[in-house]
Amino acid sequence: MQLDIKPFVSCKVLIVDDEPLSRLLLSTILEPIVECITASTGSEAIGICESVQPDLILLDMNMPDMDGLSVCRTLKANESTANIPVMFVTSTIDVETENDCWEVGACDFVMKPVTASTLIHRVKNHLQSKLRTELLEKMTFHDQLTGLYNRLYLSNEIPLLIKQVARDNGAIGVIMLDIDFFKLFNDKYGHVEGDSCLQQVAQAIAENVKRPKDAAIRYGGEEFMVVLPYTDLEGVEKIALDIQASLAVKDIDHYAGIGNKVTLSAGFAVMDANDIRETGIVTLIEAADAHLFASKENGKNQVNG
Ligand code: GH3
Ligand code: MG
Ligand code: MG
Repeated sequence: MQLDIKPFVSCKVLIVDDEPLSRLLLSTILEPIVECITASTGSEAIGICESVQPDLILLDMNMPDMDGLSVCRTLKANESTANIPVMFVTSTIDVETENDCWEVGACDFVMKPVTASTLIHRVKNHLQSKLRTELLEKMTFHDQLTGLYNRLYLSNEIPLLIKQVARDNGAIGVIMLDIDFFKLFNDKYGHVEGDSCLQQVAQAIAENVKRPKDAAIRYGGEEFMVVLPYTDLEGVEKIALDIQASLAVKDIDHYAGIGNKVTLSAGFAVMDANDIRETGIVTLIEAADAHLFASKENGKNQVNG
């Protein structure tokens, strides 16, 4: 996962206007600094936002099929598009409409005819603050070394997930994973190699944690946790075994490892989300941890649940 801000040229700006000339004018001004996408109606714009996720929208206020205010309201009500900043572009504006703009969640508005340099500066400012906010959000919930989620994600977001799965009467699986003989790896090859090994192990985990609500978390130094909602015991065991297999493919040498390779031990458990709500996620983590301990005791490089 990248933890730096992407350049403006990789940003997508959606220009929504029913008049072809307006779309052409705005995209001609902005094309040198960003990637422009255009839409001629409100409903087309909403469709594009759901599939493409632009970084900023320039929205015409007056359009025949669906006016700009309604488009903005719809985007803000949808979780997947709510965070895209919307800037209105309008030829006439009175105080009441200005207030409407802010109320539907716009970040700004510019008057037609637009002044090129003002438009460019405003677009740059809004993009910059959006990209910075996104980066901060990523840094808050991700581990910088591996790009996986961190403990803060576990304590802030997993409770919400548990609530949601409980409403559906579903179960949640947890896998706890720990690298075998990692202290000896670090002592022999040094911390830089150690860090690179952690990144590869994290990648082996991430490759197998694919559903949108799944979470791979760096739990401690060389300990990882995988949270798998709506997954039964068999499914959870399969993911644990697949993670081990992905790590085997990476084929990382370790003089003191099993088969002279870096390996993982794992423990897993599954609980109904409604029970987790009563006891807390600790009970589930402790159950998986006990199985991890058994994997270590029984010779490491294995999965128990
Ligand atoms: P076991 O097989 O029983 O799991 O033993 P182990 O040596 O893997 O486990 P132990 O818990 O004794 O040691 C963990 C080691 O992980 C200690 C430290 O050298 C290493 N470690 C923890 N965090 C980091 C990190 O961020 N970077 C690096 N390079 N090493 C780390
Ligand atoms: Mg450990
Ligand atoms: Mg270990």
